[in-house]
Amino acid sequence: MNVPGGSILVAKLSDVVGWARKSSMWSLTFGLSCCAIEMMATAASRYDLDRFGVMFRATPRQADVMIVAGWVSVKMAPFIKRLYDQMPEPKYVIAMGGCASAGGPYRDSITIVKGVDQFIPVDVYIYGCPPRPENLIHGIIKLQDRIQEQHKFEKQGKPMPKPDPIIVQ
Ligand code: SF4
Repeated sequence: MNVPGGSILVAKLSDVVGWARKSSMWSLTFGLSCCAIEMMATAASRYDLDRFGVMFRATPRQADVMIVAGWVSVKMAPFIKRLYDQMPEPKYVIAMGGCASAGGPYRDSITIVKGVDQFIPVDVYIYGCPPRPENLIHGIIKLQDRIQEQHKFEKQGKPMPKPDPIIVQ
């Protein structure tokens, strides 16, 4: 492939596919409470999440990653599960903040779920109340590295061993 300046770039097609997958993680748009403000700040011009290929989509059918930002009420949980089920594979979940990760300050409340991993699998936990945009970006970059790694296993026809979740503190 010719690139500007006359150089030639050589890469395996499968590596390009892995790179494309990790570089175009579209995220489902929804925020649940205070952590959502930090998520929105991450997408705004100061932190510019678009430069990492993360763009917010209004439908689960077009989303690769779900960022659960904020506490989840017991009544809201079935709707989040339904949205997750409607996302195409491969799909990923980021639990942003103490509430989404484990219930946070509302852990003892009977109306708040003690972490979204009670009903959907979580790939990245981001601690903090709320986490800063830099923490969310760090979690996204770690997830992108894992997606590229996962693709290497796929192209060899092997399932990737179930990895431990990524934890960002
Ligand atoms: S972790 Fe803190 S900032 Fe985030 S939703 Fe819970 S209480 Fe709000």
